[in-house]
Amino acid sequence: MAEETVPFTGDPDSTTWAAERAGSGPHPLILIGPTNITDGHARRIRELFAAVESIASRPVTLRISGSPATTAPAHVLRAMELPPGMEPAPDGALNPYLLMTQGEIFQQARRAGLPAPVLTRTISCVRAPHSATAHCGHCPACLTRRAGLLAALGRDNTPYLTDAWNVADHGDTLRDREAVRTWLRRDLTGVELDLPSNAPMDASPGRLRAAIERARIELRRMFDTGGDRRSEPSAA
Ligand SMILES: [Zn+2]
Repeated sequence: MAEETVPFTGDPDSTTWAAERAGSGPHPLILIGPTNITDGHARRIRELFAAVESIASRPVTLRISGSPATTAPAHVLRAMELPPGMEPAPDGALNPYLLMTQGEIFQQARRAGLPAPVLTRTISCVRAPHSATAHCGHCPACLTRRAGLLAALGRDNTPYLTDAWNVADHGDTLRDREAVRTWLRRDLTGVELDLPSNAPMDASPGRLRAAIERARIELRRMFDTGGDRRSEPSAA
């Protein structure tokens, strides 16, 4: 019986893709988790795996054996630093969400059946010290995550180490926020608009530009509302 394998790092993109694939096809699905990660990260991956397994309509197995890869779109990866040891999915691997914003990917996860609280358990941060499951709150990955959760759910219950919107600007927080703000103001470059070799079939330079512009709208909305931290608990 043919197996399908997909990378599974606990980030929003690979978690969403795993949930989508878990609901389609009769053959076993193997989620490849990264090796050389902290115990906390491994626990979180197992927790997210259980969430995916609970909505699966096919056999799903977690295998901790892979080199860490991510399904995050190339334009997201270029806008932020990759976590240490993390690599983009290899050429030839699908980059299914190239034409989606982070908010659209979270919405896709909901459509695939993942409850909203599970989205909050995904891991985006590239900077948090000590634990691969913590979120610093101000790196480009955390800012993109917050903008995406606000766009998709109208709230962001992620426990950030720093509330980047409620502290005086200093050091990393200011530098990170200004880097994203600068990116939002400038024109996109040719490199940013290059289609990667693993782009989905329906990708085109025009559609990629449109997706990146939608991603910038999500981020601008968050900046315009000062982080808009609505965190009241709500049902899945
Ligand atoms: Zn962060």
